Amino acid sequence: MDQASNNTLQRWLTGPRIGALPAMAELPAPQLSFEFFPPKTEALESQLWSCIRRLEPLAPRFVSVTYGAGGTTQARTHATVARIVSETTLTPAAHLTCVGATRAEVNAVAEGYWAAGVRHIVALRGDAPAGEAGYQPHPGGYAYAADLVEGLKRVAPFEISVAAYPEGHPTAVSAELDLDNLKRKIDAGATRAITQYFFDSTLYLRFLDRCAKAGITVPIVPGIMPVTNYSQAARFSAMCGASVPGWMGKLYEGLDEDPETRRMVSTVVAAEQVRLLQANGVDEFHFYTLNRPDLVYAIAHILGARPKG
Ligand SMILES: Cc1cc2nc3c(=O)[nH]c(=O)nc-3n(C[C@H](O)[C@H](O)[C@H](O)COP(=O)(O)OP(=O)(O)OC[C@H]3O[C@@H](n4cnc5c(N)ncnc54)[C@H](O)[C@@H]3O)c2cc1C
Repeated sequence: MDQASNNTLQRWLTGPRIGALPAMAELPAPQLSFEFFPPKTEALESQLWSCIRRLEPLAPRFVSVTYGAGGTTQARTHATVARIVSETTLTPAAHLTCVGATRAEVNAVAEGYWAAGVRHIVALRGDAPAGEAGYQPHPGGYAYAADLVEGLKRVAPFEISVAAYPEGHPTAVSAELDLDNLKRKIDAGATRAITQYFFDSTLYLRFLDRCAKAGITVPIVPGIMPVTNYSQAARFSAMCGASVPGWMGKLYEGLDEDPETRRMVSTVVAAEQVRLLQANGVDEFHFYTLNRPDLVYAIAHILGARPKG
């Protein structure tokens, strides 16, 4: 044996041994939820509805519909959620924010949801409208998500989910205060947190440990964002405080003009992420679909989800 091949074998023999991830058959079927945004145009409306129809057979626990910054999509969010109630077998959750409205106005929106048969709200603070510096509570409005949760509980016995940030909210004073804030939202009546998306799963797993130590016992469901456009995702992540690991940039290197390979790479990245979480015992997943079903469907399938009926 020559010296070079001897060195190669040495290198292989001394590296860490990583066992196989558990096979799907050994794991419980995952509980899924899917997030959509309300469409602005007829073309986007038909894209959303073909996305909903494609994912519906996977029987998610709920599907949520976002609320545009500053309440700009109030009517469209309501119309989308109402159509989900009347035309599908799905259970919708409506996102609702505190921004730009009095308590009475927010309560009226929530009452409208209850009357339309919506029983689940994702309660958020929201962000300052574009062009305004920093978030300012509306005078007479709910100031923070915890206040909104408390107010919604007075409107009707909604199921309430709230946002959590494994890497901290971008404006949080400290990680501890951010965790106190999450605890306040749960104490006010939320029964689930959905996380900001993340790419480094160890950050999320460490966050779970910190939540447990802080006495938070509700599920902290990981928000999974399958990325198809890496450059766009990297820019957006910088704004919402999600870090993008160096290995990700490397994976998408040279693929700007090659969407097909990017999609294949993206499927592998997201599949690896959810499989690792699943191997760590996580069996609930919230997917940011961006109203595109294919990647989400494939990853849900890899997790063990199968169409029902
Ligand atoms: C799953 C998910 C879904 C989302 N959906 C939407 C959506 O549909 N529409 C939309 O516009 N945005 C949405 N967002 C974004 C969200 O609105 C922003 O991240 C927003 O900046 C914070 O919302 P929050 O509910 O987490 O706020 P909060 O929980 O109120 O916290 C916001 C910040 O304020 C701090 N804080 C809380 N209480 C106080 C206090 N009393 N005094 C001082 N500081 C305080 C917290 O520590 C934190 O740093 C979503 C985010 C996630 C993770």
